[in-house]
Amino acid sequence: MFSDFGQSYAFFRYRATCATKKVYLCTLLNHFCTRYKMKNIRIGHGYDVHQLAEGLTLTLGGVAIPHSKGCVAHSDGDAVIHALCDALLGAAAMGDIGLHFPDTSGEFKGIDSRILLRRTVALLREVGWEVGNVDCTIILQRPKVRPYIDQMRSEMAAAMEVALDQVSVKATTTERLGFTGREEGVAAEAVALIYRP
Ligand SMILES: [Zn+2]
Repeated sequence: MFSDFGQSYAFFRYRATCATKKVYLCTLLNHFCTRYKMKNIRIGHGYDVHQLAEGLTLTLGGVAIPHSKGCVAHSDGDAVIHALCDALLGAAAMGDIGLHFPDTSGEFKGIDSRILLRRTVALLREVGWEVGNVDCTIILQRPKVRPYIDQMRSEMAAAMEVALDQVSVKATTTERLGFTGREEGVAAEAVALIYRP
C-alpha cells in the first residue's frame, strides 16, 4: 500500500514539475516573441492646431476646402498633415515636425505640407521603417469636411506612397465648445503605426 502511495506521489510530483516547466517555457517564449515583434512595430501620436482667419486658404489633408476662413501659419497650415508627420516621427522616436522643418526657415514658408509628409516618410524609410496604417481626426466646427475626406485620404496616401486603405481620415465638431467650437481654430490628431519589414 505504501509502495502504491509512493508511486502515486512520485507520479503527481512528476506531472506537477512538467506543468511548471511548461508554464515557464511558455512565459519565456512569449517574452522573447513579444520583444522581437515590438522591435518591428511602433505606434506614434500627433496633434496640431492652427488659428483660423478671414481671407486665408483652408487646406486640410492636402485638399483646399472652400471657406471664408483659412489657417494662419508659416507653411500652408495643414493641421492634418502636420499632426500626421508628428505621429510618424513620434513612432520612430525621431523628434517632431518643428525639428526637421523649422518654421523659422525661409525654405518652408508657404510650403505645401504634402512635401513635408513625403520628406517625413523618406526620413523613416532611410532607417528602415515602413508605414503600416494611419488614422487622422479633424476637429473643426465649420465647414463640413466630409465631402473632401476621400480626396484627403488619396492625397496623403500618394504622398506617403501607400495604399488608400492604409489611410483613414475622420472629422468631428466640439458641439460649439472651445476654440474650435467658436470657429477660432482647427485642430487635428493622428496616430500612425510603422513597421520594419
Ligand atoms: Zn501646423
